Amino acid sequence: MVPGFSPVVLALDFDGVLCDGRPEYFEAARRAYRETWPAAREVPDAVAAVFGAHRPLVESGWEMPVLLHAVVAGETVAGLVDRTAWLATARRLLGAGGLAPETLGQALNGVRDAWFARDPDDWIRHNVFYPGVVARLLDVLASGTPVAVITTKAERFARALLASQDARLGALPIVGREPGRVIPKPESLARLAAAHRLQAGAEGLWFVEDLLETLDAVHATPSLAAARLFLAGWGYNTLEQRASVGWRRHVRLLSLGAWTAPFAAWPA
Ligand SMILES: [Mg+2]
Repeated sequence: MVPGFSPVVLALDFDGVLCDGRPEYFEAARRAYRETWPAAREVPDAVAAVFGAHRPLVESGWEMPVLLHAVVAGETVAGLVDRTAWLATARRLLGAGGLAPETLGQALNGVRDAWFARDPDDWIRHNVFYPGVVARLLDVLASGTPVAVITTKAERFARALLASQDARLGALPIVGREPGRVIPKPESLARLAAAHRLQAGAEGLWFVEDLLETLDAVHATPSLAAARLFLAGWGYNTLEQRASVGWRRHVRLLSLGAWTAPFAAWPA
């Protein structure tokens, strides 16, 4: 392998990079919303598309039932225009409902756990791997390049989804949580770089992620300053965020077509 043209280790986010979890988020959020919201409104199936389109606004689980409520209650476009506006909207709606974020977060986790326990195959079917992703991952593994999944998703869920595609994917290392704690992604990546004995700056580490703020945080970490960072253009991000990659020297926009191409063809 030619140094610089392929990764020493490839790190991949899970949701919005490997797998589109929006059908699952929608259904879990709908059930949690029905369970917790006072006088919850009817949520027709057709709301899934609007909910999915607003997915880039959401960072934490508790926000998803609130987002559903915002959509069915007819919240204005201005209240959902960006992350700042959304958080203000979400807090206002929560206050009006007399709810705490923890209540909704716990309801969402409870719904998901119960669903997975009762019918794991149905739960898995509500998560869709992006086209070509699995075949390309298997090629990368066959070529001997180490791959790690960096995600704040609960490991058992990520592993069940990977294993549903292929046993080799089910055996991938998954980094992102430890008992009682979600590990910030820069810390997970620093651990990965150390485990692969990368030099200072983590040159040779390539990371594909769909959240721009996360890539900025990784770049701002001195021990990761030389890692190559890619924004997954097919993931949960907006046109504005994808366009803003143009004036960030440390991030490249990766298309789904480029992701399935050899590493040498990835944007430099
Ligand atoms: Mg993601």
